[in-house]
Amino acid sequence: MDKKKFGPRTLLCHDDKEYLYNKGAIVPPLFQNSLFAFEDWGSIDQAFENPNESYIYSRLHNPTSRIAEKKIAAIAGAEDAKLTASGMGAISAAILHFVGQGDHIVTVKDVYAPTSTFINTFLKEKCGITCSFVDGTTVESFKEAINQNTKLIYLESPASITMNLQDIMGVVKLAKSKGIKTVIDNTWATPLFQKCIGMGVDIEVHSVSKYLSGHSDLVAGVIIGNKKDLDEILLKEHALLGPKMAPFESWLLLRSLRTFPLRMRAHQEGGIQLAQFLESHKNVRKVLYPGLESFPQYQLGKNQMLGYGSLISFELNTDDLSKIKNFIEKLSLFHLGVSWGGHESLVYAPVISYAKELPPDRFEAMGIVPGLIRISVGLEDPKDLINDLNMALNCVS
Ligand SMILES: *Cc1c(COP(=O)(O)O)cnc(C)c1O
Repeated sequence: MDKKKFGPRTLLCHDDKEYLYNKGAIVPPLFQNSLFAFEDWGSIDQAFENPNESYIYSRLHNPTSRIAEKKIAAIAGAEDAKLTASGMGAISAAILHFVGQGDHIVTVKDVYAPTSTFINTFLKEKCGITCSFVDGTTVESFKEAINQNTKLIYLESPASITMNLQDIMGVVKLAKSKGIKTVIDNTWATPLFQKCIGMGVDIEVHSVSKYLSGHSDLVAGVIIGNKKDLDEILLKEHALLGPKMAPFESWLLLRSLRTFPLRMRAHQEGGIQLAQFLESHKNVRKVLYPGLESFPQYQLGKNQMLGYGSLISFELNTDDLSKIKNFIEKLSLFHLGVSWGGHESLVYAPVISYAKELPPDRFEAMGIVPGLIRISVGLEDPKDLINDLNMALNCVS
């Protein structure tokens, strides 16, 4: 049978026979080992001839991680994938792969805050790398920022606070015409709902800590792309900086991946219902969610996404901090915390951390007002979540 024809549910539930040899165990074993021993000189010599395809030491490849990597690459429509210890491990390795001393990066003003700090502070101070933050809602804004040192355009669409989109195919076309590489953080839409590699992006990165693992029990990341880039990253950024994924976390991730398409369908259903409810409430000023027809880039989202996640931002119709605090504390089904994409619903006010993480000009440029609230819709019954939100929202005025 041609595996390429399988749908994502089949790809994620099915395991190759080579991993099921262990007394017929239906779940591939956890390879909790650091090194691999060889029968003789010839076989270890052979392994070093081709480290990208061999198991030598778990800082490079580990069989349990490799099963998950191949599954993620398959659903993303890519040649290969490499798991990392965190989303930031994937992001920093992918960026370092494409830039060097004195190069210039163009990214969006509302990029994930630690990514912004990595580029604009860490790389700037250590490597003299410069960066332009652009509005990103038009291809023109990227074009204007490109200079002769630009080596990378780094995208995040949708962005995880403002939900702003970038025209992925338009930016890829521009980048290719100038020999510039592209990387995208595709965590919001997931490899299931946004096929970035198919749209020509060079490398796609994810925080696996969000939807891909989906149970708020692990921190991980993944780099997805073609075999040439992934082979090079494995031996350079990955092997030398060492952000390797733990085998046990890969084993947990394999369990998460079996239900990933089912969970995403439920997240999408909850996301749309809650966004529509929020939009109808008198104490909500505006809702930022690409799945709403009122979203300014709704049509662009439909053109480049196959579905929606369940991370939603909205503005309360007040900027009074005591009212905002009261709203959050009235909620009983939404836990107060960072992160998102798990089974449990969460609420967060970016004003809590962004003002501490970013310089004031970067914070204001993102367009974040104090009354901006972000929720991650979990897998609970949407009607219960709506009732909880309704009760807390009614207390705002
Ligand atoms: C959480 C997050 C990251 C970072 O991932 P970690 O696994 O926490 O390192 C990167 N990008 C986005 C959009 C995120 O939400």
